[in-house]
Amino acid sequence: MDRQEMVQWLQCNDEADLEVLRKRADAVRSAQVGDDVHLRGLVELSNICARDCLYCGIRAGNASVARYRMSREEVVACARLAVDFGFGTLVLQAGEDPGLTGAVVADLIKAIKQETDLAITLSLGERDLEDLTAWRQAGADRYLLRFETSNRELFRYIHPPRVGQPERDRIEHLGLLRSLGYEVGSGVMIGIPGQSYDDLAQDIELFKGLGLDMIGVGPYIPHQDTPLGKSGGVPLLGVEQQVPNTLVMGLKVVALTRITCPQVNIPSTTALATLDRQTGREQGLNWGANIIMPNLTPVQYRRMYEIYPSKAASTETAEQSRDTALRQIVGLGRVPGRGRGDSKHFQTLNSFKNN
Ligand code: SAM
Repeated sequence: MDRQEMVQWLQCNDEADLEVLRKRADAVRSAQVGDDVHLRGLVELSNICARDCLYCGIRAGNASVARYRMSREEVVACARLAVDFGFGTLVLQAGEDPGLTGAVVADLIKAIKQETDLAITLSLGERDLEDLTAWRQAGADRYLLRFETSNRELFRYIHPPRVGQPERDRIEHLGLLRSLGYEVGSGVMIGIPGQSYDDLAQDIELFKGLGLDMIGVGPYIPHQDTPLGKSGGVPLLGVEQQVPNTLVMGLKVVALTRITCPQVNIPSTTALATLDRQTGREQGLNWGANIIMPNLTPVQYRRMYEIYPSKAASTETAEQSRDTALRQIVGLGRVPGRGRGDSKHFQTLNSFKNN
């Protein structure tokens, strides 16, 4: 699919035409990665963040956030829960927390790997080569780092560099993660003020260009305590160019991503579920997604990890998150995945390398 066709789909509002797109993506999903929906237990282990991203509710400058960092024992207890629930992967996500040092995280990875066979995905922001190497050696399997938007100027505006630290290039960082042997995930927010249809089509082309294994996309949701949210999300572009941050736009991007990158793992994200609590997550699965990430973070911390307001599942227990996910999967006639659920793209890549 070329850029022009992609833009046409992104701008399409005809329901019958969009059903054609959905069916095409769903057929690619079924043929390439099957009916399994893999479950990843998500642990939001710290909301402490040294960054001041203009869009994010847990940015350093938001003084109204009560901060927490989970203890090693609390995280290991979540890993045990993931095993009890039959999940194959634990995702450890946090703000860019200086207290999560190379040694602290390596120790945590080793503790989880000693007790379980879980695959471990890290999503801890832009970390240096030394930490990323140590974590890979400790047993981490995957790393998620969204490039947020391929529009460099817009990215620099919404994601300023950390004070006193050199600016890092997230695209280069993804290459570094690949060279260390991680399964690599990235993604974008959809409908950032100032993001055009052409930018978004370029994002999807870049997913392919980067040869990613996992791709997570979700609508940008304004947070009232952030500079971008305070401006009311007023588009900096004309309406004919500005991408809206709607559920349907999120679904279109999931579908186009599946068609463009057939063998990758694509989660039906919390942002989709937040925009439509009843059906958002199932719709994501119907438009090309094959992963769900039920939240295992202890309830007392959930509300504090408010990257955007009214986040879905922010008051649920881990059991409720699991039960909802299983009900949704079975309700769609799909199958809860077994095992680690490594990306088919990653497996194919490695089988080429090994032959
Ligand atoms: N600190 C790590 C990082 O930046 O990669 C991981 C945590 S960060 C909170 C995880 C993701 O949340 C970001 O990549 C971003 O896409 C998403 N996010 C943050 N604020 C958001 C918002 N207001 N609306 C939608 N997604 C948001």
